Amino acid sequence: MNKNTGKELVDLHVHTSYSDGVFPPERVVQEALRLGLKAVAITDHDCVDGIEPSIDAARDTSLEIIPGVEISSVKKDTEIHILGYFIDWRETALVKKLREIRENRVERIIEMLDRLKEHGVEISLDKVLAKITTGSVGRMHLARVMVEQNVVGTLAETFEKYIGDDKPCYAPHKRVDYRDAIKLIRNAGGVPVLAHPGTMGKDEYIPDYVKAGLRGIEVFHTRHRPGVSDAYTALSKKYGLLVTGGSDCHGTGKNEILMGKVEVGYDIVEKLREEAEKIRETRK
Ligand code: AMP
Ligand code: ZN
Ligand code: FE
Ligand code: FE
Repeated sequence: MNKNTGKELVDLHVHTSYSDGVFPPERVVQEALRLGLKAVAITDHDCVDGIEPSIDAARDTSLEIIPGVEISSVKKDTEIHILGYFIDWRETALVKKLREIRENRVERIIEMLDRLKEHGVEISLDKVLAKITTGSVGRMHLARVMVEQNVVGTLAETFEKYIGDDKPCYAPHKRVDYRDAIKLIRNAGGVPVLAHPGTMGKDEYIPDYVKAGLRGIEVFHTRHRPGVSDAYTALSKKYGLLVTGGSDCHGTGKNEILMGKVEVGYDIVEKLREEAEKIRETRK
């Protein structure tokens, strides 16, 4: 709760150890309760396996877990992350497609390891895969191994020098079209929301996302400065989209837990829930 306004707060973008977050679901729940949050959406990259353990950990507490996902998709050559809220995480087509995407993620890491080798950096696949017990592997896991092996000093440097989106050792995800990602979420009864658009800089694509069934924009995000959020609030209004927000917490990044740092009220959860109901109605 915000001490000044009495507003009940939530975080709608949180990763667990089922993707590249550091905290297992139990710790996510513990931190959220400590911060006094009313709800947290579990939004792992291409994985829904962390949802049930989170719900179990939050049972008999005041915390509500919103089942979510963050799907890595593309439009032309731009990587677009689509969040899905109130998804039916057991829906067969969703589970099957996400499993396929995760298998492709391993292939993609192998590609990056090959590129790193060409740049004189030798990292073993086993070491990267050892960073996850289950769930989806990603660049953060690779970055952690690179820091452990003293290739560079910090996680940020691994992205700046080697594996950032436009850097020499980056390999793209196998293509998942943004329209398919949106459809997958809607067919699972969830609300598709554009994640952190301020980090992608392709606002001209937004009308196409809307045409494909997008229903919200993540206006508030750790990497959005206030002016950026204002601009996306205006765009949300223009296209009749819900305004959402979340921290994109990955556990302890730079010794700081981002959870709850982006102020979002519980009213947004109610709106997302209503929207999910509508999507389910049209699906019938
Ligand atoms: P992946 O899904 O494997 O492409 O990894 C995406 C994740 O890598 C994001 O969720 C971020 O946590 C992290 N990431 C991407 N770009 C950067 C960057 N430039 N600096 C730090 N972390 C980044
Ligand atoms: Zn991540
Ligand atoms: Fe993302
Ligand atoms: Fe994220």
